[in-house]
Amino acid sequence: MDKQKIIQLDKENYLPVFARYSIVLSHGEGPYVYDSEGKRYIDFLAGIAVNVLGHAHPKLVAAIAGQAGRMIHCSNLYYTEAQAALAAKLVKLSGLGKVFVGNSGAEANEGAIKLARKYGKTISEEKVEIITAEHSFHGRTLATLTATAQPKYQKGYEPLPGGFRHVPFNDLPALAAAMSGKTCAVFLEPIQGEGGVNVPDRDYLQGVRDLCDKYGALLILDEIQTGIGRTGAMFAYQLYDVKPDIITLAKGLGGGVPIGAFIATDKVAAIFSAGDHGSTFGGNPLACAAANATLAVIEDENILANVTMVGQYLMEKLEFLKDKYPNLINQVRGQGLIVAAGLSRPGRDIVDKCMDYGAIINCTAGDVLRFVPPLIITKSHVDEMTEILDRVLAEEAK
Ligand SMILES: *Cc1c(COP(=O)(O)O)cnc(C)c1O
Repeated sequence: MDKQKIIQLDKENYLPVFARYSIVLSHGEGPYVYDSEGKRYIDFLAGIAVNVLGHAHPKLVAAIAGQAGRMIHCSNLYYTEAQAALAAKLVKLSGLGKVFVGNSGAEANEGAIKLARKYGKTISEEKVEIITAEHSFHGRTLATLTATAQPKYQKGYEPLPGGFRHVPFNDLPALAAAMSGKTCAVFLEPIQGEGGVNVPDRDYLQGVRDLCDKYGALLILDEIQTGIGRTGAMFAYQLYDVKPDIITLAKGLGGGVPIGAFIATDKVAAIFSAGDHGSTFGGNPLACAAANATLAVIEDENILANVTMVGQYLMEKLEFLKDKYPNLINQVRGQGLIVAAGLSRPGRDIVDKCMDYGAIINCTAGDVLRFVPPLIITKSHVDEMTEILDRVLAEEAK
């Protein structure tokens, strides 16, 4: 089918909730994707921080194909080796106690919210409030869009579930003022992704931990975007030296296969018993095999060290562009390979032009260029992307 036909077919039949770019993607290899007309793009979005091993990584492909040939799904009424192995691996990597596997980020967060509510009620009927941060992003289900403190995601869907409060991010006095004995959890991204790659002060999360301890509240970290090596640590909280009670994962975990998970300390996990939560597809052997292969490659190929090294190089290159185009770029920020260039104006046309020249990048929060490439990229891939961005910024600066 030709490109225009595919686009027309989609427009006629798919719910119009996505502002899509006018290309049809067909396949990928490593950090490159190809469109239906054979044009190649260097991919610095990676399916929105999902394809951590790039596209078509041979070990991931083999694991998926092998598992599909044995069994894709059998329900959670039975044990499988792939699920047991994944849970053991995630417990070991996180230092937490018990894992639940679902199918998406929002589903992981829903599970964490339910667990926090049940935890609160073990202490008092009133201990049900969950505090989240402005400019956060936690998903599109009713509870997670209520946790997401951005009106644009909530408008039109009222009445929203109760029991959520919002405070400014990276502001300990504001959090302290909002907390009380009614707080059952503080629920934050360690670095806000969709909200603009907002990196908190070094001691912020430690301060949040102290407040949670003071009020007997759980610290839930949404590591859906920052987890699985994105920041150069397996999980971002490891960089900030805090111990959360629950973390949630999704995006990078399956290397592209849909999967989400939450991990809780043994103490908190013990609040759930048989029948308290569930999922038909969650933790199926296909998704777990993909996650097991993804985590194995990250370890075996020393990917975390690569993220730190290449991430630093990407920040340096962007700093150089900031100095060259001070009227366009006002700040470069990030950690590992979640990096942003703050713009002095909306970024959508810069993204469009980069695409024309063969680089896929992303604009979030209106005026922030976000770079979340596969974690396997090298410095030369950074050069390739930043050369295109340089060319586009030169045209824009005219
Ligand atoms: C993407 C994202 C989600 C939502 O994940 P879905 O799989 O789209 O439901 C939640 N939290 C964060 C931090 C995210 O980046």
